[in-house]
Amino acid sequence: MQQATLELNFAEAPEARQARRRAGAEQWSRQLFLAIGDGSEWDYRGECCDLQRPEGKCACGHQGLRYLFTIHRARDGKTAKIGSTCINHFSGISAALVDGITADRERLEKAAAERIKAAKATAANQQNAELLAELSALLWSIERKLAAAPDGARVPHFLWWAQLTPENARWRLAKYGSDGSKTHPAIKPKPYKIAAALTRWLKGQIAAFSEYTEKPFYRPGY
Ligand SMILES: [Zn+2]
Repeated sequence: MQQATLELNFAEAPEARQARRRAGAEQWSRQLFLAIGDGSEWDYRGECCDLQRPEGKCACGHQGLRYLFTIHRARDGKTAKIGSTCINHFSGISAALVDGITADRERLEKAAAERIKAAKATAANQQNAELLAELSALLWSIERKLAAAPDGARVPHFLWWAQLTPENARWRLAKYGSDGSKTHPAIKPKPYKIAAALTRWLKGQIAAFSEYTEKPFYRPGY
């Protein structure tokens, strides 16, 4: 009960929050006016940058901005860098300036999201390439063990079902080479176009075959 009371005390009334925000906005607006004067004198020419980190500073003094937009004042050639939210507190500016900056802000955010997506895809591909190599090496090691087994040796049902038998192993090693440098021919992960699905498939395959790498897994003769 005491806790609830404390939480209630910390909550801010909507009116108070609005007033505080208004006061903040007015302050930024004043600061911006002091820094760059009349908003109607400025235009935006598409110069913007994504700093990658929130290290940017607006002409109004607002810090911690990631995206900055350069505006120009034709009469004296002055430029200023401002943030995309600050323009909402910038009196006298044209709708075109707001629209231009807003559109570029959206474009920069989209590009940043796409870069993150591409980086994740690259990492996933890298991981899958490693898993693929691991599975391939695992299958070749099973093949080499099987190849050393006599014809008709009994293998676990799972391997038999996967056509991993001594006869097949000898045939495959002769055909594809015994050094295991080639990707094992049984690995055809083409249907798994989504990286996450391929990762799951590879991990599942590795888990399924791993147990046959340590202990003896065939019995000679039927
Ligand atoms: Zn600002």
